[in-house]
Amino acid sequence: MTTNTRAQQTINTDRLMASLEELGAIGAYHDEDADVMGVRRLALSPEDAEGRRLVRKWFEEAGLTASTDAIGNTYADRMGLDPDLSPVMSGSHIDSVPTGGKFDGALGVLGALEVIRTLNDHDITTRRPLTIAFFTDEEGCRFGTDMLGSAVATGRIPLEQAYALTDADGKSVKDELAAIGFLGDEPVGQRRPAAFIECHVEQGPSLIHEGFDLGAVTGVQGISWRKLTITGASAHAGATPMSFRKDPGLAAAKINCRIHEMCASGEYGPDMRATMGVITPEPGMINVIPGRVTATVDLRNPDDDAMRRAEADLDAYQQEIAEQLQVTIDSQQTARTPAVAFDEAVIAAVEAAARVQGLKCRRILAGAGHDAQEWSTVCKTAMIFTPGLHDGISHNPRELSTPKHCADAVNTLLSMILALSDEAGNA
Ligand SMILES: [Zn+2]
Repeated sequence: MTTNTRAQQTINTDRLMASLEELGAIGAYHDEDADVMGVRRLALSPEDAEGRRLVRKWFEEAGLTASTDAIGNTYADRMGLDPDLSPVMSGSHIDSVPTGGKFDGALGVLGALEVIRTLNDHDITTRRPLTIAFFTDEEGCRFGTDMLGSAVATGRIPLEQAYALTDADGKSVKDELAAIGFLGDEPVGQRRPAAFIECHVEQGPSLIHEGFDLGAVTGVQGISWRKLTITGASAHAGATPMSFRKDPGLAAAKINCRIHEMCASGEYGPDMRATMGVITPEPGMINVIPGRVTATVDLRNPDDDAMRRAEADLDAYQQEIAEQLQVTIDSQQTARTPAVAFDEAVIAAVEAAARVQGLKCRRILAGAGHDAQEWSTVCKTAMIFTPGLHDGISHNPRELSTPKHCADAVNTLLSMILALSDEAGNA
């Protein structure tokens, strides 16, 4: 069969949407605020277990050989014409945040399944084997570490460290994996695909607002978090002359203004983002100059050099402000992940696949973390983004992509998987 005739195959949109609905009914709850049905399928909860069992059953019904590894990632393999070649892998996650929607993660898993079902319908065997998968605890809401399953599978986080993580009730990842029947016996770290491709909802407003059908994801931005403890002198708001004050609230406000000015300056690239999400004064009274303020700074940048410069310049500014306002600033780095750049050839292939289908596609940077960034450390990787209605809102019950949007993304996934699995190679 030639690539040309294959390119004409399209997925069954009704079947894809029906599967999304059926999985979305597991852990469904009525959200009072939004007055819609949301999804609550926390990692390794009974709802996650029920979702896992359903998807694993679907994997097997599609003729795939399913297996679960020691961190609960579940893979399903399809033979290729050349079984010695490493597979092309596609997948995502089926756990959700406590107030989630039907599409985040699920579209990537069930989209990959729909590709397999379509290949089955048309009796197509690819040259390379194919693997589809769902990964454990992508959201990190329950045990505090996101992309947990894929990070263990690709070697960033040691298995024993992941096992020891506990939830708010002190229950460990290992015990909960065993409790839901997904403590698998396949060793972690053995799967090294030729390529990884993940389909996901954008979780932002860009595609829908700019009228694009699809996003070709270029990478994931770097993250730098710091916690600031700013100490001054608590005093009376009326009796203390302005020149006598050591006001940590003013210091926090100035730092907050500064990080926004840094973004606007363009000096750190066009895509720097900065947020002071926590500003907590103590004692927190209207007529008391605070003695201490706890604040956080979240910096994002797709350019690691620009991120380093921003961090250094912010360090210097904090010192300057501390001297100027006579406060002390203790600055602790609480998280830092480098930017991830996806594979240029795979990004270009997403664009080409979109073009063939007449879809309007733009390159886009992922604002959130994804399983694909973990796999990008072991093989060439890219992602396909689907637009979402309601400004692309996600991690919210109102999260919604239309059948057309989902079908465009999964048809692109289908042609990507066909193209990547036809590639020659030694392994
Ligand atoms: Zn997700």
